[in-house]
Formats: sequence, C-alpha cells, structure tokens
Amino acid sequence: MSAARRVDVAVVGAGFGGALTALALRRRGYSVALVERGRHPRFAIGESSTPLANLLLEEIAATYDLPRIAPLSKWGTWRRAYPALPVGLKRGFSFFRHNLNEPFQDDDSHARQLLVGASPYDEIADTHWYRPAFDAFLTAEAQEAGAEYLDETVVERVRFEGDTVRLDLVRRGDPESVVAAFLVDASGPRGALHRLLGLPEAPTRWLPPTEGVYAHFEDVARWDEAVRPEAGVPYPIDDAALHHVFPGGWIWVLRFGNGLTSAGAAITTPLASALQLGDGDQAWQRVLDRLPSVKAQFAGARPATRVIRTPRVAFRSAEVCGERWAMLPSAAGVIDPLLSTGFPLTLLGILRLVTVLDTTRPGGERTTRLAAYAEHTSRELDMTERLVAALYANMADFDVFKRLARLYFAAASYSETVRRLGRAEMAPGFLLCDHPGFGPAARAVADVALMRPTDRARANLFADIDRVVEPFDVAALNDDTRRDWYPVRATDLIAARAKVQATEPEIMGLLERCGFRAAVASAGPLQVS
Ligand SMILES: Cc1cc2nc3c(=O)[nH]c(=O)nc-3n(C[C@H](O)[C@H](O)[C@H](O)COP(=O)(O)OP(=O)(O)OC[C@H]3O[C@@H](n4cnc5c(N)ncnc54)[C@H](O)[C@@H]3O)c2cc1C
Repeated sequence: MSAARRVDVAVVGAGFGGALTALALRRRGYSVALVERGRHPRFAIGESSTPLANLLLEEIAATYDLPRIAPLSKWGTWRRAYPALPVGLKRGFSFFRHNLNEPFQDDDSHARQLLVGASPYDEIADTHWYRPAFDAFLTAEAQEAGAEYLDETVVERVRFEGDTVRLDLVRRGDPESVVAAFLVDASGPRGALHRLLGLPEAPTRWLPPTEGVYAHFEDVARWDEAVRPEAGVPYPIDDAALHHVFPGGWIWVLRFGNGLTSAGAAITTPLASALQLGDGDQAWQRVLDRLPSVKAQFAGARPATRVIRTPRVAFRSAEVCGERWAMLPSAAGVIDPLLSTGFPLTLLGILRLVTVLDTTRPGGERTTRLAAYAEHTSRELDMTERLVAALYANMADFDVFKRLARLYFAAASYSETVRRLGRAEMAPGFLLCDHPGFGPAARAVADVALMRPTDRARANLFADIDRVVEPFDVAALNDDTRRDWYPVRATDLIAARAKVQATEPEIMGLLERCGFRAAVASAGPLQVS
C-alpha cells in the first residue's frame, strides 16, 4: 500500500456540492482530497436552479474569488463564457394541474395553472444544470485549483485516530488511504458516512413517502403546443421548470439546450401501488398512461439514459456533524424536487460550513459552531419538508396548492431581494424559517393545510396565508387580478420597497446590478418575450 496522503480536508463525493466545497477550501489555502466513487462525466439528478440558488452561486464565486464560476449564475453569461457546456433556460416555475385519466383542460381564470416568472428576459434567466457536464467542469476546476482528485475510488472504512480521520480507500482495485484533519461528506442522500458510520435515518415527519422514476429523454414535445397559452403569458412556459401536478404526485420536465430533457415523476406510495409501477421504463409508461395530455407530450420521446426508479425519494439523516466530520445539506437530507430546494440548501450549507472550517480552529469553538451548523441545516430541511408536505396534501385541491405556493415564492423572492441589497440578515434561514414574523406563521398555516381543510376552513386558511405573505410579498403574489400568472415586473419591486426597507434609488441600483436595463430606463413593466 502506498503512503497515506495527508490533507487538511477530505471531501467525499464530486458532485457540484463536493467540487464547489473543494474549490472554496483550496482558495482559502487548505489542502484537499476529493474522493469520488464514479467517473465524470456521469448522470446525476437534480438540475433546476432558482434565483436564490444562482445568487448563492454568485456569492460563492465572489467570496472565494472564483471568476470562472461567476458566469454560471445566469443563462446569458453561462452561454457566452462556456458555449460547449450544455445548459437549459429557466424563466420561471410552470404548474399545470391534471386529473388522472382525463385530458388537461383549463378556463380563462387559469384555475388549473400557476405561472411564476423568475426573470424578465433570457439574458439574466436561471438555468437547468446539465449535471454530467456541469459537475465534470466544477471537478476539473477543483483539480486545477490544486485539489487531489481520486475518482473510481471506494471508501472502505473511516477511522477517527487522535486528531485526524483516516479513510481507507480502494482506487481502481488498489488500496490507498487519506489522512485528513476534517471530512466533508458530499456524497448525497444515503451516502458514504451514512453507511460507513452506520448513522441512523430520521423518518420524515410531514412528507408522505414518495417513489421516484426519472431519466433524460430526446424529442420531448413542447407543452405550449398542447395548451397554446393566450397573449400575455409571463414567459414561454416550457423555458421553465414545468410541473404536471395530479392527485398523488407530479412530473417535472426540464429542457436543456442540447436536445435532451430531464423528466421524472414523484409519486406517493398509495398511488404508486395502485399503478403497480414495476421497474424503470415500465413504471414511467404506467404513470404516463394515466395522464393522457402528458402522454401526448412524450409520444415522440425516447429515453436517452436508463430510466431509474427509486423506492424512496426523501431522506433525512438523524445526524449531520461530528467532531471531525460534517455532511453537506444534500447528504443530510433530500426532501423532494417540487420547489427546487436542493441547490439553495446545498449552496447555503457550503457557505456556512467553509466559514466554520476557515475561521475556527479544531476544538471548543469549532465544535459549538459545527453543532450550530447541524441545527441550522435541520431547521431548514424541516421548513422545506413541512411546506412541501402541505403542497402534497393538497395536490387534489389546486386552489389550496396555489395559495400555499405563495409562501414559497414570497420567502424566496424576499430573501433574494434583501441579499441583493446586502442585507442578508433580514432573511434568516432558508424560506425565512428563522424569521420571527414569517417562520412560525408559515409553519402554522402549513400545518392547517396538512389536514386538508374543509370548505369553511379553507376561507380562513386563505386569509391566513395572505396575511403571512403580505409583509414579504415583493412580487405582487397577493394580487388576485393576476389570475395566477406572475411576470417579473420592476414596478412590483419598486412598489414593495418599504417591505425591504429600501429607497427607490436603492431598488433602481439593485435592478441595474442585476441587469434589468429596461427597468432602469423606463421604470415601467418589463418587456417579456
Ligand atoms: C429526483 C430528484 C430531483 C431533484 N431535482 C432538483 C432540482 O430540480 N433542483 C434542486 O435544487 N434540487 C433538486 N434535487 C436535489 C439535488 O439533487 C441535490 O441538491 C444535489 O444533487 C446535491 O448535489 P451534491 O453534489 O451535493 O450531491 P449529489 O448530486 O448527490 O452527488 C454526490 C456525489 O457523490 C458520489 N458518491 C456517492 N456515494 C459515494 C461514496 N460512498 N464514495 C464516493 N463518492 C460517492 C456520487 O457518485 C456523486 O458524484 C433533486 C433530488 C432528487 C432526488
């Protein structure tokens, strides 16, 4: 066996989370070993970014002086900087509500749809990360920055020895070892430390069990060819995270710019049993068979990868940190893709964890701050789980679903705005979970919604949700005249400036920094394509 490699930090898992962690640590001068069991490029699920995720990516790039990462935070700059790196255009969140066994239909009030814009035009839009290329790119950047990259490497054993942690590895058949002062687990749900340390899984508290089936497909038709939205649609509905929601589950459709589309379903266990899902391909077909309009969208499509079926999507680890190890949020828990929460949670975790490792020495204070990191991570996963669970409970009642979704969009857009104003302290915790005004009130309405309210209780619930949302609503979400179509308008943010304690010139400055040129010029409703 070769001599052990000695490093400051060993990072297990070279997805985007592990690679970015390794990059940030290298920029702070730490020696890093990045251990990956597979080999890039490889398939990975979890692809849809959000305005907050992209802002956090920008913050990581700025904090750790990573100018090559910064362009990846917007569709326009990504395409110009890295034309060979596939990326999907995400202008917003599109939700369409289906009944099982019935073609999709809607009325003028948009009773069965919800369109929430995330950006006013393509240049500054969000993205779908084509993970085979994206993760490979970030891993190459980490290597370039000096991280030792060990791919096709299995971690056989983790041992804590004095003030170090030793990883016994097998790399392409040969034994190796890494001795580190600290271990970051970036290996995703049910990952390396969960298995090697025998850490217990924590049951989800609010979310029903769901099964997943997903793949990349070629030749998926555009949904707007089926629904033909009328004039005034806030953005092209397929250039978005497209959600087909139905009682008991939902399907995501995310288009990349390379002809491939990521699509999959998360199905609650009773429906999955009723559908007798079976394996991969068959499971996907069985879901489509119950949704005639979605089936038509996929009529000409072919899987470009294996269709994967997972018996459980959600995962929570009962432990997040130890004296010499910590999990990224993505290893500590996965809730559900419904609101694209995985990326922002992971990116927030990277910023926090690297700060803890960077600013405190091993021992007393670091232990306390790691415990705080663990609690923070768990509270954020709890908030996400509670809200997503409330949405699941109301997939059959789309009016409640849409009203609840306002909580997410209000918290996310408020958090993004105050961070862009340099006042991150006004948005404590993901989804404002630690905000004394929003957090407890949002949890309370989510709990009521979890009980599937009766008709009379619904009216109260709607009024309560509106009250919770109002002080944080910077996107006119509570404006019912929008008929559940929410374009991104500079005027809405300007009108809501008091909620973020900003003056009009401060908002105009923010818009200019974000690239809202049209807004700065006219201060009128922005053009939408
Ligand atoms: C079905 C589904 C859809 C999702 N969709 C979205 C979405 O649209 N938007 C969003 O924000 N989030 C989404 N998520 C969450 C998202 O997938 C995660 O937040 C994201 O993948 C985390 O990235 P990561 O690099 O930290 O971990 P991962 O992507 O899980 O990568 C882990 C890496 O570790 C490696 N690895 C695993 N075990 C070991 C081991 N024992 N030793 C060495 N290496 C190991 C793996 O090969 C992999 O390269 C989704 C999750 C699921 C389950």
